[in-house]
Amino acid sequence: MSRVRMTSDPVDVLVVGAGPVGLALALDVVAHGGTVRIVERRTDHRRPSRAMMVHPRTLEVLRPLGVVDALLARGDASPAADLHVGRRLVQVELGDLGWRGTAYPHLTMIRQLDVEEVLLAELHARGVEVEWGTGLDPRDGVPVSGTDGVRATVRSSSRAEQVDARFLVGADGTGSTVRQQLGIAWPGRYYAVEVVLADVELCGDVRPGRLQVAVGAEGLVFVFALGEGAPWRILATRPRRAGTPGLGEEPVPTEQLQELLDRAGLDAVVSRVAWSSRIPLQHRLAQRFSAGRVFLVGDAAHSHSPAAAQGMNSGIQDATNLGWKLAHAAAADLGPDSPLVESYQLERRPVARQVLALTDTVFTGEASPALLPRLVRGRLLPLVAPLMPWATSRRPLMSTVLWILSQGWVRYRSSPLSVDRDPGGSGPHPGDRLPETRVVCDGRPTSLHELTAQPGVHVLVSREAAPQPARVARNTMVHRLSSRPGTAVTAVRPDGQVGFRSPTGAGLENWLSLVGK
Ligand SMILES: Cc1cc2nc3c(=O)[nH]c(=O)nc-3n(C[C@H](O)[C@H](O)[C@H](O)COP(=O)(O)OP(=O)(O)OC[C@H]3O[C@@H](n4cnc5c(N)ncnc54)[C@H](O)[C@@H]3O)c2cc1C
Repeated sequence: MSRVRMTSDPVDVLVVGAGPVGLALALDVVAHGGTVRIVERRTDHRRPSRAMMVHPRTLEVLRPLGVVDALLARGDASPAADLHVGRRLVQVELGDLGWRGTAYPHLTMIRQLDVEEVLLAELHARGVEVEWGTGLDPRDGVPVSGTDGVRATVRSSSRAEQVDARFLVGADGTGSTVRQQLGIAWPGRYYAVEVVLADVELCGDVRPGRLQVAVGAEGLVFVFALGEGAPWRILATRPRRAGTPGLGEEPVPTEQLQELLDRAGLDAVVSRVAWSSRIPLQHRLAQRFSAGRVFLVGDAAHSHSPAAAQGMNSGIQDATNLGWKLAHAAAADLGPDSPLVESYQLERRPVARQVLALTDTVFTGEASPALLPRLVRGRLLPLVAPLMPWATSRRPLMSTVLWILSQGWVRYRSSPLSVDRDPGGSGPHPGDRLPETRVVCDGRPTSLHELTAQPGVHVLVSREAAPQPARVARNTMVHRLSSRPGTAVTAVRPDGQVGFRSPTGAGLENWLSLVGK
C-alpha cells in the first residue's frame, strides 16, 4: 500500500461513490452552502446505464438544484408504450397521466448515464469535481468518528490520503465498503431470478421510439428505445443461472437473448448485439442508515429489484433528504445526536422498507416462476387485454398509479423535524409533501412549487400574518401569499416536505433553529 499523506483542508461532507445518488447528495450539500469532496473508484464516469426511468417526485426534489430542465431536455417526458399481451397489441400513452398535484404528471424515460452527466455538469458548474480512481479501501478499516468529525483514508493508484470531514456518506452501492467497514448488517436475499440486459439492433414487430413490453407466462420483457451503442435496450428476467451470486455480470449469448424475446411472444429478431450482461438481484435493507457521523444512502442502504423503477429514484430522494441536513448541521455545529441529523434515518428507513415491499410485490407479478403469477401472466392477462385500452385511459387510475410509483405518499409526520403548532389546521400537515397549488404571491400568480424552487427553507406567510423576519441572508426565504387569507405560517424544508405550521407564526424561530438555520 502507498504511504498515507495527511489530510488537506477538512470538508463538511466526504461522499464515497459517484453513482446518481452520491452525485445528487454532493450537489444538495453544496447547494445548501456546505463543502464537499466526492471520491469514486471508477476511473471514468461512463458505464452501461441501468435505470431508464425517472419519476415525478424525483424531478420535484431535484428542481431546487437547477437540473430539471437539463434532465427533461435529455429525456422523453411523453413516452409511449406498446404492450404485447397474447396476440393483442395495446398502445399506451404515458405522457400526462393526470396527476394534478405535480408540475411533472408524467413518467420520464431517461438513461441513468444522462442523469449522472447532468448532475456532474451541475457539480462542475458549482466548482466540485469528482475524484475519479479514488476510493475507500476495505483493508483500511473503519473510518474514525471523533467528537467533531470523521477521518477516513482514501486511495488512488498513486497515493493515499487521510481526509477529515464533519460527516461521511457511503453512496457506494450494494457492495458498500462503508457499510461493511461499519459492520452494519445487510439482511435480505438474492432473488431466484436474474436480470438480462442487452443493447441490440432488432428487426420485426417493434415500432421505433416506443417502449415495448411483452407479457409472457415466463415473465415480462421490456425493450426500451434507449440502447447505448445500439437502438434498443432489452431488459428481461429468467431463473438465475448457476454461479456465485454477485459475480454473474458476464455477457449473454445472442441465442439466449433471442430465446427471451420468443418466449415472451415478441415478434422480433436480434440482428446485432452491442453489449449484454446478466445481473443478480437482491432484496435487502441495511439494519441502520447511520452510525455516528457516517451515513448510507441509495443502494448502499437498500437494494431493490428493478420492478417499478425505484432504486435510483429512491436513492436520489435519500440524497435530497440528507444533503441539506448535513450542510446545515456543519454550519450550525450540530452533531449526530441532534434531531436534524438523526431525522435522516428515522425518516428514510421506514420509507425504504415500504418501497422494498412495493418492488417485491410488483416483481413477483412480473417475474416470479411460481405457478400463480405464471397463470396470471400467461392466461389471465391475455383474457383481460381487451379492457386495457379502457383502463389505461382512466385518468384517476393512472394518476393513482403514478402517485404510488413516484412516492407521492411519503410523509414524515412523526419526525422530530415535524412541528405542528396548529393541530386541526387546514392545509398540509408537517411531514407531508408540499402539494403543487396555484397561489398569488405579492400580487403575482405563481405556484407553490415554483416559489420553493430555490435551495433553502421557504416560509409561506398568509395574507394577514404578522411580518416574519426576511432571513434571506441565511438561505431562508419568506413568501407572502396574498391568495391565502388568515394569519397562518407554514415552513417548507429544502426537500419540499412541510416542516412547521402555526396559526400565527409563533414557534417559527425555534423550528428554524431545529433545522440549523
Ligand atoms: C436492470 C436494472 C434496471 C434498473 N432500472 C431502474 C429504473 O428505471 N429506475 C430506478 O430508479 N432505478 C433503477 N435501477 C436501480 C438503479 O440502477 C440503482 O438503484 C442506482 O444505480 C443506485 O445508485 P447508487 O448511486 O446508490 O449506487 P451505484 O449506481 O451502484 O453507484 C455506486 C458507486 O460507488 C462506487 N464505489 C463503490 N465502492 C466504492 C469505494 N469503496 N470507494 C469509492 N467508490 C466506490 C461504484 O464504483 C459506483 O460508481 C435499476 C437497476 C437494475 C439492475
